[in-house]
Amino acid sequence: MSINYIQYLQGFTQIFYPRLCAACGNALYFNEHVLCLACYADLPRTGFHLDPDNEVARLFWGRIPVRNATCFMLFNKESHYRTILYELKYRKQRQIGTEMGRLFGLELRESPFAEADLIVPVPIHPSRLRKRGYNQSELIAMGMAGVLQLPVISDLIARTEKTKTQTKKSRYERWENVRDTFRIEFPENIRDKHVLLVDDVITTGATIEACASSLLAIQGVSVSVAALAFTKLQ
Ligand SMILES: [Zn+2]
Repeated sequence: MSINYIQYLQGFTQIFYPRLCAACGNALYFNEHVLCLACYADLPRTGFHLDPDNEVARLFWGRIPVRNATCFMLFNKESHYRTILYELKYRKQRQIGTEMGRLFGLELRESPFAEADLIVPVPIHPSRLRKRGYNQSELIAMGMAGVLQLPVISDLIARTEKTKTQTKKSRYERWENVRDTFRIEFPENIRDKHVLLVDDVITTGATIEACASSLLAIQGVSVSVAALAFTKLQ
């Protein structure tokens, strides 16, 4: 099939199912994927992977010994880039996860994050997984893994208790809320490994902290953290 013909078909299906930019909502051209060129160019990248003393890393100081920590994007509540997370999480736009993960992975090549032995997504609670049908952090991890050439182990950590909604809680309450809710299923598989823990968004870091604590209890394990986005508490 010629490229022109494929473009013609894509143009045709666009009439019925227009693909929209995950950030601004404008229709995508055939050569754009997930984000329009303008939103791609303006992505609020942090560059934190080049700075070991960054804001996300500092979030864990005195709480948990992570090797390196970074996030791909940093934005506030008003930013239209928040839509990316919303569409990924609640509108079943799975391709957003893999594509954003791929872009994140491209940025992390040649950084200490690429030296991890494996990628582990932060799990969501089983009931939420059944309802949603996928774990958005796993999709991000898959996108990253393709670029970084690392294995993803999605069933390494089990989430054992449902956490209540976290939006209106203080940092301490959030920490209490997620404590002891992660269990490592196959600790022998990751002994002495450097684990890259991947999440969709970091706010207080409480979930990552609980998850990383469980991993760090295993002999010889070190943990680096990479989240797609960091949204600060206002
Ligand atoms: Zn856009």
